[in-house]
Amino acid sequence: MSNNETIFEKILRGEIPCKKVFENEHCLAFHDISPQAPTHILVIPKRKIVNVMEAGDEDAQLLGEVLLAARSVAKQEGLDATGYRLVFNNGADGGQSVDYLHCHVLGGRALAWPPG
Ligand code: 5GP
Repeated sequence: MSNNETIFEKILRGEIPCKKVFENEHCLAFHDISPQAPTHILVIPKRKIVNVMEAGDEDAQLLGEVLLAARSVAKQEGLDATGYRLVFNNGADGGQSVDYLHCHVLGGRALAWPPG
């Protein structure tokens, strides 16, 4: 898996604009540029992890921060009442297109299962 710079580092540095919805010490969250649901937000850690497969034991706390940030985002966006989905795509077969760990927060409609 590539460790080259991705679009998300540029977003973090403010070189590429994003529609920010949440930020704290550990994470940034912004609207996905190509939404797959009425609400589709990406949560990324401010320190790069490529994906869950590449995460180390030292990343345990940060991975937890990503989940807590995703929960905050979902609540902020009003998804609590009806539910939502959190997705981490990992590697080629997982459909990961950006090699920087991100949690998709998807909601606003009933989502099908299983995924394609
Ligand atoms: P993946 O396919 O890696 O799980 O998800 C990457 C996501 O990043 C995709 O849903 C894609 O639409 C989103 N994305 C790619 N480039 C940009 C960008 O420049 N800005 C934003 N906001 N989202 C992006």
